[in-house]
Amino acid sequence: MVRPIFIGGEWRQGRGPISVSRFPADGSVNAELSTASREDVEEAVQAAERAWRAPSWRQALPHQRAAILYKVADLIEARLEQLAALQTRDNGKPLAETRGLVASAAGTARYFAAACETLDEQLTSQRAADFMTLSVHEPIGVVAAITPWNSPIASEMQKIAPALAGGNAVLLKPADATPLAALELARLFEEAGLPKGLLSILPGRGSVVGDALVRHPLVRKISFTGGTNTGRSLAHIAADKLIPTSLELGGKSPTIVLEDADIELAAKGVVYGIFSSAGQACIAGSRLFVHGAVYERFMERLLTLTRELRVGHPEQDGTHMGPLISEAHLQSVADYVALAREEGGEVLCGGERLSEGTLANGSFYPPTIITGLNNGARVCQEEIFGPVLVVIRFEDEADLLGQANDSIFGLAAGIWSEDFRRAWRLARRLECGTVWINTYKKFSVSAPFGGYKESGLGREKGREGVLAYMQQKSIYVGLSDTPNPWCC
Ligand code: NAD
Repeated sequence: MVRPIFIGGEWRQGRGPISVSRFPADGSVNAELSTASREDVEEAVQAAERAWRAPSWRQALPHQRAAILYKVADLIEARLEQLAALQTRDNGKPLAETRGLVASAAGTARYFAAACETLDEQLTSQRAADFMTLSVHEPIGVVAAITPWNSPIASEMQKIAPALAGGNAVLLKPADATPLAALELARLFEEAGLPKGLLSILPGRGSVVGDALVRHPLVRKISFTGGTNTGRSLAHIAADKLIPTSLELGGKSPTIVLEDADIELAAKGVVYGIFSSAGQACIAGSRLFVHGAVYERFMERLLTLTRELRVGHPEQDGTHMGPLISEAHLQSVADYVALAREEGGEVLCGGERLSEGTLANGSFYPPTIITGLNNGARVCQEEIFGPVLVVIRFEDEADLLGQANDSIFGLAAGIWSEDFRRAWRLARRLECGTVWINTYKKFSVSAPFGGYKESGLGREKGREGVLAYMQQKSIYVGLSDTPNPWCC
């Protein structure tokens, strides 16, 4: 049966080509589903425009909007196992990880419900006696949200929750490879009582469905997570339409091990930072800088821990790394490793696809560590988005900073050191949106997230996250009994 999609609050067959969701671990079919056509996008946008303008939504009190998000959070938690299993089937991440992503989606819904309920408006400082000024926030209208395949349910809720909390309607286009979690989320929003039309889920090709969405004149904000090149092209479209856009893009994040680091803690953190999610994470710590004084000791521990990682079936307990999302993506990772070899890199472990036994039908690639290159090599500058770590030895902090910041990206960084003041100083000089000190890849919904440089524009999460989906209005209220004078 070809599954329907969620267009303007109705479950029906989309008019785009049928798409097949496959389990990356063995290629088996999860589901066949319809995708949206340009006509479906038009209908969904029109329904969204009516829905956000409807008095029942425009005039809904913040706690009424929040109530829907709280309900959805409860529903997600009640179905955590089912949603995690679905997402594991869709993108191949181990269950332990997808459980975390589902829990984070519930937390995000709850956080933005609370943010919406507690959002204060301002009586701005008064500059004159004969009028007062207020600043209020209002919805933007119809929001297009576009997401990648690596952490669907979490990144989707990061857009849907603040957009709805802000009083908007949202049209979500999930990644071509991973539409299932978003469709399930739509069912939960429906069950929680979200009025029809405020949410649509429009699976399909980026160049067709995504393009139709962002170009539509009624779409007044683009919220995008994905690759830097796609983000740049959407920024051009947004500029032409003069609409706000938030872009969460790629990364090539440096992790720094200083000579006074706790080696055990650092080695485990580095392994987790690059190899969890099989390296398919925007914030993966993919460039490692290790101080010469601890280089040999650290590398020995790093290699031991890496070789102990279990690559395998994502539904099996104890698996650290599942398959890559697709055969095409595996090929692109393998091509980067071949390039590293051509550029003179030495592959210390991994470096060849895995196809033994039960791994034969999936796109499995082992954790791979490369040394012998400098920061100018292409594998140190380009995002591989796979389980490939490039290690560079450094001796001097000034030189380290220069290299760590020598990147078009600026998403995140990690520092491992027992000297907190030194780590703090370094953190302030790294050009990126997030720095982890003595930890890595930890997230809090209350901490704004986003990139410097070509890693993005704008921030998601944090209390201001809801304001990114609202526009500000100043209201002047006259207090004088005399008419306006001719000058001010
Ligand atoms: P992608 O840019 O290829 O696709 C992302 C989404 O954009 C998909 O839904 C795709 O269908 C859509 N799209 C593609 N072309 C489009 C177009 N012309 N118009 C409208 N939509 C279009 O990225 P991907 O391969 O799915 O994801 C991997 C990338 O995402 C990596 O670069 C990764 O770093 C980045 N990412 C960033 C963050 C972050 O928060 N900074 C988080 C996760 C992933």
